[in-house]
Amino acid sequence: MSRDLVELAKRRGYFFQSASAYGGVSGFYTYGPEGATLKDNVEDAWRERFQVREGHREIDAPTVMPEPVFEASGHLDTFDDMLVECPECGESHRADHLIEDNTDIEEAESIPISEVEDLIADHDLRCPNCDAELAGVPVEDFNLMFETNIGPGDSSPGYLRPETAQGIFVEFPQLAEYARNQLPFGITQIGKAYRNEISPRKSIIRVREFTQAELEHFIDPTEDEPPLDRVADVELTLYSAEEQEKDDGEYVTKTVREAVDEGIVHEWIAYYLGVGKQWYESIGVDMDRFRYRQHLPGERAHYSADCWDAESEVDGDWIEITGYSYRSDYDLGKHDEYSDDDFTVFKQYDEPKVVERATVDPDMSYLGPEFGGAAGDIADALETLAERDRKAFDGEEVAVEVGGEEYAIPTEKTGFSVEEVKETGEHVLPHVVEPSIGIDRVVYTVLDHAYETDEIEGETRTRLALEPAVAPTFVGVFPLMDKDGMGEVAREITDDLRAAGLDVTYDDSGNIGRRYRRQDEVGTPFCVTVDYESLEDDAVTLRERDSTEQVRVPISDLDDLLADLQAGETTFAELDAPAPEQ
Ligand code: AMP
Repeated sequence: MSRDLVELAKRRGYFFQSASAYGGVSGFYTYGPEGATLKDNVEDAWRERFQVREGHREIDAPTVMPEPVFEASGHLDTFDDMLVECPECGESHRADHLIEDNTDIEEAESIPISEVEDLIADHDLRCPNCDAELAGVPVEDFNLMFETNIGPGDSSPGYLRPETAQGIFVEFPQLAEYARNQLPFGITQIGKAYRNEISPRKSIIRVREFTQAELEHFIDPTEDEPPLDRVADVELTLYSAEEQEKDDGEYVTKTVREAVDEGIVHEWIAYYLGVGKQWYESIGVDMDRFRYRQHLPGERAHYSADCWDAESEVDGDWIEITGYSYRSDYDLGKHDEYSDDDFTVFKQYDEPKVVERATVDPDMSYLGPEFGGAAGDIADALETLAERDRKAFDGEEVAVEVGGEEYAIPTEKTGFSVEEVKETGEHVLPHVVEPSIGIDRVVYTVLDHAYETDEIEGETRTRLALEPAVAPTFVGVFPLMDKDGMGEVAREITDDLRAAGLDVTYDDSGNIGRRYRRQDEVGTPFCVTVDYESLEDDAVTLRERDSTEQVRVPISDLDDLLADLQAGETTFAELDAPAPEQ
């Protein structure tokens, strides 16, 4: 099935391997005219649901970022996959995928490397390319980021972003100012992300350059609550970590409200699982082949405190199409620590509060002569210590560590005191809730779930039953033949419908049945045919892709009618009684 879809995708201009004239490189795909429009439509629908309706705003950050960003975020150290290289043919493989493909083990990504090596030996796993033994071959961590140099020379390393999210986090100080320092607020970004996947596979499902649509919702964890009422009744199919760990684990169906009340899903994540479900359904993901699966504890990314994946079933496998992650204050905390900027938000109290604050006023005329160059750092360390642990000043001496060395300072020389001060607010490090959508995998799912075959007049027909809201070509316009003025009328209709904002294809080649089949394969929901009668009655035949039924429609009504069909304001079945087939 997948091969049929991939062939159709190539033939009908959805997607194909990039630069195949030069042999192509795996993991890079080009979207053709239909695919690029389908992708745009999916992205527009995402914007509408996750951004506009939620009141969030979008930014557009660079795809190349300097090394310190990824040192802080942890990607430099931990954004790795497990690599095993075949000693015979040199082919690289993802060790966890080899295990998943050849044993009953699922989610092998969470297994430590030493155990993965043992599993490869125990199951006598072999190179899928040349069948050489892989037992005893070392498994290594391989960092997935593409490295580059910014400017000439190699003094300023940069990386292609492995996720769009960091572009939002590093700009947090500016974004918080834009949001007038008021939590909660959400920032979205859609754009390319790059991962040097060890073995890209399954066409656009695992590629090295892909499009992510991410939302970072910044919240105050002590007081902000999601607007659960908006999605409280949405039903979720949930596969919790607990169920996955049982031999006979099952899915449970819960409403968003139940999932929160029963403690199955964190309330903020549950809110976005509800929003997500509505969105996937609206763009044509088959809800019988869809689930939310919680990450197992060892599977979670280095930054994630709780995570659920939206998964779709394609070609008999479950694939992750979106990660919903409660990233806590990890990212902002890291950038606050590593950078020179402040990544907190100042939260004003309703009433000023009187609080006790411990401070120091070190006697520099003592510290200077006694500790020389280290005196300034010691004074800073004393101040930090006073804020954190005032008990440390209870004894005769206070110990601080500076530059790896311990110094003892007589307490009387620290000027330690506890004062009462009035505070008008406090600095809060926001927490982050993140739906991270892989647009390419969503596009693949939409195509796969729309792919159908049936019998029409004794012939097998292939069609993409795409939702009208996302179908890249919305209507095909055909003259029965390009003669006796039918071509002119059809071209005029084409221009009018295009002027009304619809995606229209005009086709006058081949017999009409062939033209219908072509549009069925492209997934065009409607076709309009101009025939001899049209020249008399100014009406055309409107044919629906899925039912193949046809109705007669006045040309003057066409644009309004099609716009209503696209917006879902009317259905084909509600139109006049079908006319006999041509
Ligand atoms: P992650 O940050 O790994 O949770 O990824 C977020 C989303 O990006 C996933 O749910 C996928 O849909 C998508 N994604 C991740 N890696 C790839 C890839 N190599 N190719 C296509 N999509 C990907």
